[in-house]
This record gives sequence, C-alpha cells and structure tokens, in this order.
Amino acid sequence: MSECTHDCSTCGESCGERTQPQSLLREHNPAARVGKVFGVVSGKGGVGKSMVTSQLAVFMRRRGCKVGILDADVTGPSIPKAFGVHQRAMADERGMLPVETSSGIQLMSVNLLLDDETDPVLWRGPVIGGVVTQFWTDVIWDVDYLFVDMPPGTGDVALSVFQSLPLDGVVIVASPQELVSMVVEKAVKMAEMMNIPIVGVIENMSYLLCPDCGKEIPLFGAGKTQAAADAHHIPLLARMPIDPALAQLTDQGRIEDLTEEWLSGAADILEKFSGKS
Ligand code: ADP
Repeated sequence: MSECTHDCSTCGESCGERTQPQSLLREHNPAARVGKVFGVVSGKGGVGKSMVTSQLAVFMRRRGCKVGILDADVTGPSIPKAFGVHQRAMADERGMLPVETSSGIQLMSVNLLLDDETDPVLWRGPVIGGVVTQFWTDVIWDVDYLFVDMPPGTGDVALSVFQSLPLDGVVIVASPQELVSMVVEKAVKMAEMMNIPIVGVIENMSYLLCPDCGKEIPLFGAGKTQAAADAHHIPLLARMPIDPALAQLTDQGRIEDLTEEWLSGAADILEKFSGKS
C-alpha cells in the first residue's frame, strides 16, 4: 500500500480510513480549455447518434462557438467521414492535437489514429475505455462545447465514459420505435443513475417527407413519441425526418454544407442549458 495522502478522492486503495468515495472523474489535459461537455447517447446503434452529434456541432460552430467532437464510438467511428477528414492526428510534447474540419470543428477519433481507416478496432472493452479516456486526458482541446459521440447502449465503454468525463448533460437520440420501447428507457435510467442531467431527446427518422406533395408520412404512428417522452419526463427537443440527401451529405463528407434546420432549435436549448442565453 502506498503512503496515505489523506486525499480519498484521488486514492484507489481500499483502506479502513477511507472517508469519501473515490471519484473516477479525470482531469483534461492541462494545456486544454474545455467549456461545456455534452454526451450524445442512444439505446442501440444505427439510430443516427453520430448524425445528430455532427449536426449539433455544425450549428454551434455557425453561432461562432469553438466546438469539438470526441468520438467515443470506437468500434463504429463515423464522425471523421461525415466531415470529410481523413488525415492522421498529430501530437506534440504537451499531448495529442485534434484535427480541424474545414469550418474549424476540432475532432478526435480512433479513425484518425489508424494506419488504414477501414481497419476494424479489435480491442476488448477495457482497452477501448482507456482510449476514450485518453481522448479526454491527453487531447489539447480548445473549445466552448465538446460533444461526445458515445458508444451505443449501456455497456462497458459507455459506463467508463459516464464515470470518467465530467458530462454537463446528455442528449438522447432515438428512433420512434426505440422511443416507445424499453431500449431508450435504459439509456435514460443510466444517465439518471450517474446523476447526469438529461437535456432531452431527439427523435430521428420520425417521418418521411413525400417528395411530390411535401406531406409528412409518419412511420410509427403520429403522436406516440411525444407521449413516450412525456412519460419519461424528458423534453422532445426535435424531430428529424429520413432524408436521403442527409445520408448523401455524410457519405460525401459534407455535413458542414447542411442547409436543413431541424436541429437548430435543439442547439438553442443547449445554449440555454449552458446558461449562454
Ligand atoms: P449511429 O451513430 O446511431 O450508429 P449514424 O449516425 O451513423 O448512427 O447513422 C446510421 C446511418 O443512417 C448513416 O449512414 C447515416 O448517414 C444515416 N442516417 C441517420 N439519420 C438519417 C436521416 N435522418 N436521414 C437519412 N439518413 C440518416
């Protein structure tokens, strides 16, 4: 056992004199400046969590804020591709340097560290958790807002992100089916159990817009999702349709060219949540 420093918050020893629970929260790189940190979570993969993370970052950047995205979705990293960023991240003696997109959004993702970005990440949970924590402790962020694209679900890596990063709030992304199911409830309860405020839920793939008449075609019965959000006592921040043009923008690495404003209101709410307006 190492010598007692009497600072139980940073000590990992299980000694009889422990007076406070140990905090697993980690400090960011001393050379970094980080304002508010928001996690973007979903109950499962493929519901548009990375899409929402990218759009929120784009809207905040357009408002003149300094913005970063920490891609914690290590086994399915899609953030660099959406921004058309393919170069490798560099480091200096102080730490790792995020890669900047064309509009100046700072990114860190495992895809920016791999020799070949199509290589799969065949690492076990603790290793992945360690890498995500390093994206917080080692990267020299200089941001007002840091968005964390969380790993989907409530598993190992999601838990270590919740424990080690000081999240100011979480935004939940869900498809209509998810919103009325148990899957999203688990994500809500995880945030509650970790004492992290829930900003609200963004419903993705809510409806189809008829290309001929512009009519909204609800895919899962209109009105049910608002009722489900109410049942969880969480605000429904925005509803986003399935839009092939949106998928095309991310495939082409041009998410910063987005013209649709579906998530602009959600960005307003984030600003208010941060006490900025
Ligand atoms: P997740 O991060 O939840 O795994 P992604 O954001 O990577 O999901 O989205 C999965 C796929 O669906 C991506 O190809 C993305 O471009 C596409 N997608 C997400 N939301 C929409 C939408 N509203 N309209 C069209 N395509 C979408």
